Amino acid sequence: MSQKTNDFTKWYIETIQKADLMDYTAVRGCIAFKPDGYELWEHIQAAMDKRFKETGHRNAYFPMLIPESFFQKEKEHIEGFSPELPWVTEAAGEKLEERLALRPTSETMVGQLYSDWIKSYRDLPVLINQWANVFRWEKKTLPFIRTSEFLWQEGHTAHADEEEARTETMQMLDIYKEVVENLLAIPVYDGQKTPLERFAGAVDTFSIEAMMQDGKAVQAGTSHYLGTKFAEGFNIRYLNKENKHEYVHTTSWGTSTRLIGSVIMVHGDDQGLVLPPKIAPTQVVLIPVGPWKKNPAIIEKLDEVFAALKAKGYRVRLDDSDQSPGFKFNEWELKGVPVRIELGPRDLDNSQALMKARDGDEKIAVPLDAVVEHVEKELEMMQKRLYDKAKAFRDDNSHTHLNSLDDLKQHIAEAEKNGTVAGWILAGWCGSDACEEQVKEETKFTTRNIPFNPPAEKNTCICCGEEAKHAVWFARAY
Ligand SMILES: [Zn+2]
Repeated sequence: MSQKTNDFTKWYIETIQKADLMDYTAVRGCIAFKPDGYELWEHIQAAMDKRFKETGHRNAYFPMLIPESFFQKEKEHIEGFSPELPWVTEAAGEKLEERLALRPTSETMVGQLYSDWIKSYRDLPVLINQWANVFRWEKKTLPFIRTSEFLWQEGHTAHADEEEARTETMQMLDIYKEVVENLLAIPVYDGQKTPLERFAGAVDTFSIEAMMQDGKAVQAGTSHYLGTKFAEGFNIRYLNKENKHEYVHTTSWGTSTRLIGSVIMVHGDDQGLVLPPKIAPTQVVLIPVGPWKKNPAIIEKLDEVFAALKAKGYRVRLDDSDQSPGFKFNEWELKGVPVRIELGPRDLDNSQALMKARDGDEKIAVPLDAVVEHVEKELEMMQKRLYDKAKAFRDDNSHTHLNSLDDLKQHIAEAEKNGTVAGWILAGWCGSDACEEQVKEETKFTTRNIPFNPPAEKNTCICCGEEAKHAVWFARAY
Protein backbone atom coordinates (compact mmCIF):
# COMPACT_ATOMS: atom_id res chain seq x y z
CA MET A 1 0.00 0.00 0.00
CA SER A 2 1.30 3.45 -0.92
CA GLN A 3 2.12 5.99 1.75
CA LYS A 4 -0.15 8.99 1.60
CA THR A 5 2.70 11.46 2.16
CA ASN A 6 4.90 10.12 -0.67
CA ASP A 7 2.54 10.22 -3.60
CA PHE A 8 -0.91 11.39 -2.64
CA THR A 9 -2.58 10.63 -5.97
CA LYS A 10 -1.13 7.12 -6.06
CA TRP A 11 -2.24 6.56 -2.47
CA TYR A 12 -5.73 7.82 -3.32
CA ILE A 13 -6.21 5.60 -6.36
CA GLU A 14 -4.87 2.52 -4.59
CA THR A 15 -7.05 3.22 -1.58
CA ILE A 16 -10.32 3.50 -3.48
CA GLN A 17 -9.51 0.41 -5.55
CA LYS A 18 -8.55 -1.75 -2.58
CA ALA A 19 -11.63 -0.59 -0.72
CA ASP A 20 -13.64 -1.73 -3.75
CA LEU A 21 -15.43 1.58 -4.27
CA MET A 22 -15.05 1.85 -8.05
CA ASP A 23 -13.63 0.40 -11.21
CA TYR A 24 -12.38 1.88 -14.42
CA THR A 25 -14.39 1.15 -17.56
CA ALA A 26 -13.80 0.92 -21.30
CA VAL A 27 -14.90 4.56 -21.62
CA ARG A 28 -12.12 6.98 -20.81
CA GLY A 29 -12.82 9.06 -17.72
CA CYS A 30 -16.02 7.20 -16.88
CA ILE A 31 -15.99 5.01 -13.78
CA ALA A 32 -18.29 2.33 -12.44
CA PHE A 33 -19.46 2.92 -8.88
CA LYS A 34 -19.28 -0.39 -7.02
CA PRO A 35 -21.83 -0.97 -4.22
CA ASP A 36 -19.72 0.46 -1.36
CA GLY A 37 -18.91 3.54 -3.46
CA TYR A 38 -22.49 3.98 -4.55
CA GLU A 39 -23.80 3.57 -1.02
CA LEU A 40 -21.62 6.46 0.13
CA TRP A 41 -23.44 8.53 -2.47
CA GLU A 42 -26.81 7.23 -1.32
CA HIS A 43 -26.20 8.44 2.23
CA ILE A 44 -25.06 11.85 1.03
CA GLN A 45 -28.05 11.94 -1.32
CA ALA A 46 -30.52 11.00 1.43
CA ALA A 47 -29.23 13.74 3.74
CA MET A 48 -29.32 16.40 1.02
CA ASP A 49 -32.69 15.30 -0.31
CA LYS A 50 -34.26 15.49 3.14
CA ARG A 51 -33.07 19.06 3.61
CA PHE A 52 -34.15 20.09 0.11
CA LYS A 53 -37.65 18.83 0.81
CA GLU A 54 -37.75 20.42 4.25
CA THR A 55 -37.13 23.76 2.53
CA GLY A 56 -39.95 23.30 0.06
CA HIS A 57 -38.19 21.82 -2.98
CA ARG A 58 -39.46 18.93 -5.04
CA ASN A 59 -37.61 16.57 -7.36
CA ALA A 60 -38.23 16.43 -11.09
CA TYR A 61 -36.38 14.98 -14.06
CA PHE A 62 -35.23 16.58 -17.33
CA PRO A 63 -33.82 14.97 -20.50
CA MET A 64 -30.14 14.16 -20.78
CA LEU A 65 -29.95 15.45 -24.38
CA ILE A 66 -30.00 19.18 -25.03
CA PRO A 67 -30.42 20.74 -28.50
CA GLU A 68 -27.45 22.82 -29.61
CA SER A 69 -29.63 25.90 -30.20
CA PHE A 70 -30.51 26.02 -26.48
CA PHE A 71 -26.90 26.70 -25.63
CA GLN A 72 -26.75 29.66 -27.99
CA LYS A 73 -29.34 31.54 -25.94
CA GLU A 74 -26.99 32.40 -23.10
CA LYS A 75 -23.67 33.54 -24.53
CA GLU A 76 -21.42 33.16 -21.48
CA HIS A 77 -22.94 29.78 -20.75
CA ILE A 78 -22.04 28.32 -24.14
CA GLU A 79 -18.55 29.85 -23.99
CA GLY A 80 -17.97 28.28 -20.59
CA PHE A 81 -19.18 24.82 -21.43
CA SER A 82 -18.62 24.25 -25.16
CA PRO A 83 -15.07 22.84 -24.89
CA GLU A 84 -16.31 20.04 -22.63
CA LEU A 85 -19.50 19.00 -24.41
CA PRO A 86 -19.91 15.54 -25.94
CA TRP A 87 -22.35 15.53 -28.88
CA VAL A 88 -24.87 13.10 -30.30
CA THR A 89 -24.94 13.63 -34.05
CA GLU A 90 -26.56 10.45 -35.36
CA ALA A 91 -29.48 8.24 -34.40
CA ALA A 92 -31.18 5.30 -36.08
CA GLY A 93 -28.55 5.40 -38.78
CA GLU A 94 -29.32 8.97 -39.78
CA LYS A 95 -27.58 12.24 -39.18
CA LEU A 96 -29.62 14.45 -36.83
CA GLU A 97 -30.87 17.78 -38.15
CA GLU A 98 -29.65 19.44 -34.99
CA ARG A 99 -26.95 17.88 -32.90
CA LEU A 100 -27.70 17.16 -29.24
CA ALA A 101 -25.33 17.67 -26.33
CA LEU A 102 -25.08 15.31 -23.41
CA ARG A 103 -26.00 17.76 -20.67
CA PRO A 104 -23.16 19.34 -18.71
CA THR A 105 -25.82 21.01 -16.51
CA SER A 106 -29.48 21.76 -17.23
CA GLU A 107 -30.03 25.53 -17.00
CA THR A 108 -30.87 25.72 -20.72
CA MET A 109 -33.33 22.80 -20.83
CA VAL A 110 -34.93 24.01 -17.60
CA GLY A 111 -35.02 27.59 -18.86
CA GLN A 112 -36.84 26.62 -22.03
CA LEU A 113 -39.46 24.68 -20.02
CA TYR A 114 -39.86 27.28 -17.28
CA SER A 115 -40.79 29.80 -19.99
CA ASP A 116 -43.89 27.63 -20.54
CA TRP A 117 -44.53 26.70 -16.95
CA ILE A 118 -44.35 30.19 -15.50
CA LYS A 119 -47.07 32.62 -16.57
CA SER A 120 -48.17 34.53 -13.51
CA TYR A 121 -46.94 35.56 -10.08
CA ARG A 122 -49.17 32.75 -8.81
CA ASP A 123 -46.79 30.22 -10.41
CA LEU A 124 -43.86 31.46 -8.34
CA PRO A 125 -41.61 30.45 -6.79
CA VAL A 126 -40.67 27.30 -8.69
CA LEU A 127 -38.48 25.17 -6.42
CA ILE A 128 -37.20 22.12 -8.29
CA ASN A 129 -34.23 19.81 -7.86
CA GLN A 130 -32.99 17.09 -10.17
CA TRP A 131 -30.83 14.04 -9.30
CA ALA A 132 -29.00 13.09 -12.48
CA ASN A 133 -25.83 12.27 -14.34
CA VAL A 134 -23.98 14.96 -16.28
CA PHE A 135 -21.09 14.97 -18.74
CA ARG A 136 -18.04 17.16 -18.97
CA TRP A 137 -15.33 15.77 -21.21
CA GLU A 138 -12.35 16.68 -19.06
CA LYS A 139 -8.79 16.17 -20.27
CA LYS A 140 -7.47 15.11 -16.89
CA THR A 141 -9.63 12.82 -14.82
CA LEU A 142 -9.40 11.36 -11.33
CA PRO A 143 -12.03 8.92 -10.01
CA PHE A 144 -14.86 10.65 -8.10
CA ILE A 145 -13.04 13.99 -8.09
CA ARG A 146 -13.16 14.74 -11.81
CA THR A 147 -14.72 12.33 -14.28
CA SER A 148 -16.26 12.71 -17.74
CA GLU A 149 -19.60 11.46 -16.46
CA PHE A 150 -20.60 12.08 -12.86
CA LEU A 151 -23.64 12.02 -10.63
CA TRP A 152 -24.98 15.09 -8.97
CA GLN A 153 -27.99 17.09 -8.00
CA GLU A 154 -28.86 20.39 -9.59
CA GLY A 155 -31.43 22.71 -8.10
CA HIS A 156 -33.21 25.15 -10.39
CA THR A 157 -35.46 27.77 -8.89
CA ALA A 158 -37.33 30.77 -10.22
CA HIS A 159 -38.45 33.74 -8.15
CA ALA A 160 -40.40 36.96 -8.52
CA ASP A 161 -37.55 39.19 -7.40
CA GLU A 162 -33.86 39.44 -6.71
CA GLU A 163 -34.14 39.46 -2.95
CA GLU A 164 -36.02 36.18 -2.81
CA ALA A 165 -33.66 34.55 -5.32
CA ARG A 166 -30.60 35.68 -3.37
CA THR A 167 -32.10 34.37 -0.13
CA GLU A 168 -32.60 31.02 -1.87
CA THR A 169 -28.99 31.03 -3.16
CA MET A 170 -27.63 31.51 0.36
CA GLN A 171 -30.05 29.06 1.93
CA MET A 172 -28.80 26.26 -0.33
CA LEU A 173 -25.16 27.14 0.31
CA ASP A 174 -25.90 26.92 4.04
CA ILE A 175 -27.48 23.49 3.57
CA TYR A 176 -24.39 22.28 1.69
CA LYS A 177 -22.12 23.57 4.44
CA GLU A 178 -24.17 21.91 7.13
CA VAL A 179 -24.29 18.52 5.37
CA VAL A 180 -20.60 18.52 4.45
CA GLU A 181 -19.51 19.56 7.94
CA ASN A 182 -21.92 17.46 9.98
CA LEU A 183 -22.24 14.36 7.83
CA LEU A 184 -18.92 14.17 6.03
CA ALA A 185 -16.96 15.71 8.92
CA ILE A 186 -15.23 18.06 6.49
CA PRO A 187 -14.77 21.70 7.57
CA VAL A 188 -15.38 24.17 4.76
CA TYR A 189 -15.01 27.85 4.06
CA ASP A 190 -18.10 29.37 2.53
CA GLY A 191 -17.69 32.43 0.40
CA GLN A 192 -18.05 34.10 -2.95
CA LYS A 193 -16.23 33.18 -6.14
CA THR A 194 -14.30 35.85 -8.02
CA PRO A 195 -15.71 36.89 -11.43
CA LEU A 196 -13.11 34.73 -13.26
CA GLU A 197 -14.13 31.63 -11.29
CA ARG A 198 -17.86 32.21 -11.58
CA PHE A 199 -20.25 29.70 -13.12
CA ALA A 200 -20.69 30.44 -16.81
CA GLY A 201 -23.77 32.66 -16.99
CA ALA A 202 -24.11 33.48 -13.28
CA VAL A 203 -24.32 36.94 -11.73
CA ASP A 204 -22.79 35.65 -8.50
CA THR A 205 -21.39 32.24 -7.57
CA PHE A 206 -20.88 31.10 -4.00
CA SER A 207 -18.99 28.00 -2.94
CA ILE A 208 -17.87 25.86 -0.07
CA GLU A 209 -14.21 24.89 -0.27
CA ALA A 210 -12.53 21.97 1.48
CA MET A 211 -8.84 21.20 2.06
CA MET A 212 -7.54 17.74 1.20
CA GLN A 213 -4.60 16.15 3.02
CA ASP A 214 -2.20 17.18 0.27
CA GLY A 215 -3.22 20.80 0.89
CA LYS A 216 -5.14 21.13 -2.37
CA ALA A 217 -8.67 22.47 -2.44
CA VAL A 218 -11.85 20.84 -3.60
CA GLN A 219 -14.84 22.98 -4.49
CA ALA A 220 -17.38 20.90 -2.61
CA GLY A 221 -20.57 22.67 -3.62
CA THR A 222 -21.72 25.77 -5.48
CA SER A 223 -24.81 27.96 -5.42
CA HIS A 224 -25.46 30.55 -8.12
CA TYR A 225 -27.60 33.63 -8.32
CA LEU A 226 -28.32 33.84 -12.06
CA GLY A 227 -30.20 37.13 -12.00
CA THR A 228 -32.41 37.52 -15.07
CA LYS A 229 -29.75 36.28 -17.52
CA PHE A 230 -31.36 32.93 -18.24
CA ALA A 231 -34.85 34.46 -17.98
CA GLU A 232 -33.91 36.92 -20.72
CA GLY A 233 -32.26 34.22 -22.85
CA PHE A 234 -35.29 31.93 -22.61
CA ASN A 235 -38.02 34.53 -22.16
CA ILE A 236 -39.18 33.38 -18.73
CA ARG A 237 -41.62 36.10 -17.79
CA TYR A 238 -44.59 36.35 -15.48
CA LEU A 239 -47.50 38.72 -15.07
CA ASN A 240 -47.11 40.53 -11.78
CA LYS A 241 -49.98 41.71 -9.56
CA GLU A 242 -50.15 44.96 -11.54
CA ASN A 243 -50.64 42.88 -14.70
CA LYS A 244 -47.19 43.78 -16.03
CA HIS A 245 -44.68 41.33 -17.57
CA GLU A 246 -41.50 40.82 -15.60
CA TYR A 247 -38.52 38.51 -15.92
CA VAL A 248 -38.07 35.95 -13.16
CA HIS A 249 -34.84 35.74 -11.16
CA THR A 250 -33.34 32.26 -11.21
CA THR A 251 -30.86 30.29 -9.14
CA SER A 252 -29.06 27.01 -9.57
CA TRP A 253 -27.03 25.00 -7.10
CA GLY A 254 -25.20 21.69 -7.18
CA THR A 255 -23.17 19.09 -5.36
CA SER A 256 -21.74 15.97 -6.91
CA THR A 257 -20.08 12.62 -6.37
CA ARG A 258 -16.80 14.47 -5.95
CA LEU A 259 -17.91 14.67 -2.32
CA ILE A 260 -17.06 10.95 -2.14
CA GLY A 261 -13.52 11.68 -3.32
CA SER A 262 -13.28 14.51 -0.79
CA VAL A 263 -14.25 12.25 2.13
CA ILE A 264 -11.49 9.83 1.19
CA MET A 265 -8.88 12.53 0.62
CA VAL A 266 -9.72 14.30 3.88
CA HIS A 267 -9.96 11.34 6.27
CA GLY A 268 -8.06 8.39 4.74
CA ASP A 269 -4.76 7.11 6.16
CA ASP A 270 -2.01 4.67 5.18
CA GLN A 271 -4.23 1.74 6.23
CA GLY A 272 -6.99 2.77 3.83
CA LEU A 273 -10.31 4.54 4.11
CA VAL A 274 -11.48 6.20 7.29
CA LEU A 275 -15.18 6.86 6.95
CA PRO A 276 -17.26 9.22 9.05
CA PRO A 277 -19.77 7.00 10.92
CA LYS A 278 -22.77 8.90 9.57
CA ILE A 279 -22.11 7.88 5.96
CA ALA A 280 -20.17 4.61 6.32
CA PRO A 281 -21.92 1.80 4.38
CA THR A 282 -20.93 -0.48 7.26
CA GLN A 283 -20.72 1.29 10.61
CA VAL A 284 -19.89 -1.69 12.80
CA VAL A 285 -18.28 -5.03 11.98
CA LEU A 286 -18.47 -7.98 14.36
CA ILE A 287 -15.60 -10.46 14.15
CA PRO A 288 -15.32 -13.76 16.05
CA VAL A 289 -11.74 -14.55 17.10
CA GLY A 290 -9.83 -17.47 18.61
CA PRO A 291 -11.15 -21.02 18.19
CA TRP A 292 -14.69 -19.70 17.76
CA LYS A 293 -15.92 -22.46 15.50
CA LYS A 294 -15.63 -24.96 18.35
CA ASN A 295 -17.56 -22.63 20.58
CA PRO A 296 -21.06 -21.91 19.16
CA ALA A 297 -21.82 -19.57 22.07
CA ILE A 298 -19.57 -16.97 20.42
CA ILE A 299 -21.56 -16.70 17.20
CA GLU A 300 -24.79 -16.86 19.21
CA LYS A 301 -23.66 -13.89 21.26
CA LEU A 302 -22.51 -11.98 18.17
CA ASP A 303 -25.87 -12.71 16.51
CA GLU A 304 -27.53 -11.11 19.54
CA VAL A 305 -25.31 -8.03 19.34
CA PHE A 306 -25.95 -7.88 15.59
CA ALA A 307 -29.73 -7.94 16.10
CA ALA A 308 -29.58 -5.33 18.86
CA LEU A 309 -27.51 -2.93 16.73
CA LYS A 310 -29.70 -3.55 13.71
CA ALA A 311 -32.80 -2.83 15.77
CA LYS A 312 -31.27 0.53 16.65
CA GLY A 313 -30.87 1.30 12.95
CA TYR A 314 -27.12 0.76 12.63
CA ARG A 315 -25.53 -0.66 9.50
CA VAL A 316 -23.75 -3.70 10.91
CA ARG A 317 -21.98 -6.73 9.44
CA LEU A 318 -21.01 -10.02 11.04
CA ASP A 319 -17.91 -11.45 9.36
CA ASP A 320 -18.04 -15.21 9.99
CA SER A 321 -16.10 -16.13 6.85
CA ASP A 322 -13.21 -18.62 7.18
CA GLN A 323 -10.48 -16.00 6.74
CA SER A 324 -8.12 -15.42 9.67
CA PRO A 325 -9.02 -12.62 12.12
CA GLY A 326 -5.88 -10.73 11.08
CA PHE A 327 -6.97 -10.80 7.45
CA LYS A 328 -10.44 -9.60 8.38
CA PHE A 329 -9.12 -6.76 10.59
CA ASN A 330 -7.01 -5.57 7.71
CA GLU A 331 -9.82 -5.87 5.18
CA TRP A 332 -12.36 -3.93 7.24
CA GLU A 333 -9.82 -1.27 8.15
CA LEU A 334 -9.12 -0.82 4.45
CA LYS A 335 -12.82 -0.27 3.91
CA GLY A 336 -12.86 2.32 6.67
CA VAL A 337 -15.48 0.69 8.90
CA PRO A 338 -15.67 2.98 11.96
CA VAL A 339 -16.03 0.42 14.77
CA ARG A 340 -14.95 -3.19 15.11
CA ILE A 341 -16.11 -5.59 17.81
CA GLU A 342 -14.08 -8.73 18.49
CA LEU A 343 -15.33 -11.65 20.53
CA GLY A 344 -13.34 -14.81 21.42
CA PRO A 345 -13.66 -17.60 24.03
CA ARG A 346 -11.64 -15.74 26.63
CA ASP A 347 -13.69 -12.57 26.18
CA LEU A 348 -16.86 -14.59 26.53
CA ASP A 349 -15.60 -16.07 29.82
CA ASN A 350 -15.00 -12.53 31.03
CA SER A 351 -18.40 -11.33 29.75
CA GLN A 352 -16.73 -8.72 27.58
CA ALA A 353 -15.92 -7.90 23.98
CA LEU A 354 -13.11 -5.85 22.51
CA MET A 355 -13.96 -2.66 20.68
CA LYS A 356 -11.69 -0.76 18.32
CA ALA A 357 -12.35 2.50 16.53
CA ARG A 358 -10.90 2.85 13.01
CA ASP A 359 -9.11 6.10 13.83
CA GLY A 360 -7.46 4.85 17.02
CA ASP A 361 -4.90 2.19 17.98
CA GLU A 362 -6.35 0.88 21.22
CA LYS A 363 -8.75 -1.94 21.79
CA ILE A 364 -11.12 -1.27 24.63
CA ALA A 365 -12.83 -4.00 26.67
CA VAL A 366 -16.56 -3.36 26.95
CA PRO A 367 -19.08 -5.37 29.02
CA LEU A 368 -21.05 -7.74 26.80
CA ASP A 369 -24.37 -6.49 28.10
CA ALA A 370 -23.49 -2.91 27.16
CA VAL A 371 -21.93 -3.30 23.71
CA VAL A 372 -24.68 -1.38 21.95
CA GLU A 373 -24.36 1.63 24.26
CA HIS A 374 -20.59 1.67 23.85
CA VAL A 375 -20.79 1.39 20.07
CA GLU A 376 -23.35 4.15 19.95
CA LYS A 377 -21.15 6.46 21.97
CA GLU A 378 -17.99 5.56 20.06
CA LEU A 379 -19.63 6.30 16.68
CA GLU A 380 -20.71 9.68 17.93
CA MET A 381 -17.28 10.49 19.33
CA MET A 382 -15.51 9.31 16.19
CA GLN A 383 -17.68 11.51 14.00
CA LYS A 384 -16.58 14.49 16.09
CA ARG A 385 -12.93 13.39 16.27
CA LEU A 386 -12.72 13.19 12.48
CA TYR A 387 -14.12 16.69 12.08
CA ASP A 388 -11.80 18.10 14.73
CA LYS A 389 -8.77 16.41 13.19
CA ALA A 390 -9.63 17.64 9.69
CA LYS A 391 -10.19 21.16 11.02
CA ALA A 392 -6.89 21.16 12.90
CA PHE A 393 -5.11 20.01 9.72
CA ARG A 394 -6.81 22.70 7.66
CA ASP A 395 -6.07 25.44 10.15
CA ASP A 396 -2.42 24.34 10.46
CA ASN A 397 -2.05 24.56 6.70
CA SER A 398 -3.92 27.82 6.17
CA HIS A 399 -1.45 30.68 5.95
CA THR A 400 -2.36 34.28 6.50
CA HIS A 401 1.10 35.86 6.75
CA LEU A 402 2.13 36.02 3.05
CA ASN A 403 1.88 39.49 1.59
CA SER A 404 3.62 39.40 -1.79
CA LEU A 405 3.91 37.14 -4.78
CA ASP A 406 7.58 36.57 -3.91
CA ASP A 407 6.58 35.48 -0.39
CA LEU A 408 4.12 33.05 -1.92
CA LYS A 409 6.64 31.66 -4.39
CA GLN A 410 9.18 31.20 -1.63
CA HIS A 411 6.58 29.49 0.54
CA ILE A 412 5.73 27.08 -2.27
CA ALA A 413 9.39 26.37 -3.05
CA GLU A 414 10.09 25.60 0.61
CA ALA A 415 7.13 23.26 0.84
CA GLU A 416 8.32 21.44 -2.27
CA LYS A 417 11.87 21.22 -0.95
CA ASN A 418 10.78 19.89 2.45
CA GLY A 419 8.07 17.62 1.10
CA THR A 420 5.45 19.44 3.17
CA VAL A 421 2.03 20.73 2.27
CA ALA A 422 1.84 24.25 0.78
CA GLY A 423 -1.79 24.52 1.85
CA TRP A 424 -3.97 27.57 1.40
CA ILE A 425 -3.02 31.22 1.44
CA LEU A 426 -5.33 33.95 2.60
CA ALA A 427 -4.23 36.93 0.58
CA GLY A 428 -5.32 40.47 -0.03
CA TRP A 429 -6.64 41.09 -3.53
CA CYS A 430 -7.33 44.37 -5.28
CA GLY A 431 -10.18 42.86 -7.30
CA SER A 432 -8.52 42.93 -10.73
CA ASP A 433 -8.59 39.95 -13.08
CA ALA A 434 -5.02 40.71 -14.10
CA CYS A 435 -3.64 40.20 -10.58
CA GLU A 436 -5.63 37.01 -10.13
CA GLU A 437 -4.36 35.66 -13.45
CA GLN A 438 -0.78 36.59 -12.72
CA VAL A 439 -0.83 34.70 -9.41
CA LYS A 440 -2.29 31.70 -11.21
CA GLU A 441 0.26 31.82 -14.00
CA GLU A 442 3.25 32.14 -11.72
CA THR A 443 2.24 29.79 -8.92
CA LYS A 444 -0.66 27.60 -10.16
CA PHE A 445 -2.53 28.91 -7.11
CA THR A 446 -6.07 29.92 -8.06
CA THR A 447 -8.61 31.88 -6.08
CA ARG A 448 -10.93 29.54 -4.19
CA ASN A 449 -13.34 31.99 -2.66
CA ILE A 450 -13.70 35.25 -0.79
CA PRO A 451 -14.62 33.79 2.59
CA PHE A 452 -17.56 35.28 4.48
CA ASN A 453 -15.58 34.86 7.68
CA PRO A 454 -11.89 35.27 6.86
CA PRO A 455 -9.56 34.25 9.70
CA ALA A 456 -7.52 37.45 9.21
CA GLU A 457 -7.74 40.89 7.63
CA LYS A 458 -5.63 41.66 4.58
CA ASN A 459 -4.89 45.23 3.55
CA THR A 460 -2.80 45.02 0.37
CA CYS A 461 -3.07 43.02 -2.84
CA ILE A 462 -0.64 40.09 -2.88
CA CYS A 463 0.16 40.82 -6.52
CA CYS A 464 0.23 44.58 -7.15
CA GLY A 465 0.54 45.83 -3.58
CA GLU A 466 -2.37 48.24 -4.02
CA GLU A 467 -5.18 48.48 -1.52
CA ALA A 468 -6.98 45.15 -1.09
CA LYS A 469 -10.72 44.96 -1.67
CA HIS A 470 -11.05 41.44 -0.35
CA ALA A 471 -9.27 38.71 1.55
CA VAL A 472 -9.25 35.70 -0.79
CA TRP A 473 -8.22 32.07 -0.41
CA PHE A 474 -5.63 31.03 -2.96
CA ALA A 475 -4.77 27.34 -3.37
CA ARG A 476 -4.00 24.64 -5.85
CA ALA A 477 -7.26 22.98 -6.64
CA TYR A 478 -8.61 19.71 -7.98
ZN1 LIG B 1 -3.77 43.67 -7.46
